[in-house]
Amino acid sequence: MIIAERKPIEDIRRMVEGHDRVLVLGCGTCVAVCMAGGEKEVAILASALRMAEPEKEFKEATIERQCEREFIEEVRTTSDGYDLILSLACGAGVGFTAELLEEHRVVPGLNTKSIGVAEQPGNWSERCLACGECVLDLTGAVCPIARCSKSLLNGPCGGSQDGMCEIDPKNVQCGWQIIYDRLAKLGRLDLMEENRPPKDWSAAHAGGPRRVLREDAEP
Ligand code: SF4
Ligand code: SF4
Repeated sequence: MIIAERKPIEDIRRMVEGHDRVLVLGCGTCVAVCMAGGEKEVAILASALRMAEPEKEFKEATIERQCEREFIEEVRTTSDGYDLILSLACGAGVGFTAELLEEHRVVPGLNTKSIGVAEQPGNWSERCLACGECVLDLTGAVCPIARCSKSLLNGPCGGSQDGMCEIDPKNVQCGWQIIYDRLAKLGRLDLMEENRPPKDWSAAHAGGPRRVLREDAEP
């Protein structure tokens, strides 16, 4: 899922400056799971803003996803008359809401962090950088791009010490140690011997947004 966290209230107050009627719009999927932008977080933020800015109106709404047209359309009528939408979606959701509800100014209430998982309650961490050319079949399903601090495809480097990474030996595990341990468990240490060629990053950075097209998708 997409991991995000709420912006500091001071930053949000700065964004709503000059707007009297604000729709605080949550997203019920990823950012709800990571407790940043779901219905509950919309209610908490809207209450905080009402207390801080009693002269303004803050209306609450949450849709299933801000990255899908059909759900954004659901809120089109609700958004009428509001001069600002404070979106608590990931960056993609903020942008898509602005694209479809183009008569409104839309601003982000969250900082989008990564694609990751909930390791424990209240502890989310990155697992994928969406490189566009997945190599998890060679690494025991541990992402070397996300888990190795240098995104090495052939690790570990000389900075791996006692399972920890040289960039922060107290707090950051060596991604390649994790890969090694997983492959050892799977009985596939032979994969450590393989030389993984450099990635073709041109696919990820060719310019413009990356696209996936499916001709068989329903119109
Ligand atoms: S290799 Fe890592 S960054 Fe690339 S797609 Fe797979 S999980 Fe994501
Ligand atoms: S110590 Fe491990 S995680 Fe850190 S940069 Fe080297 S291989 Fe990557």
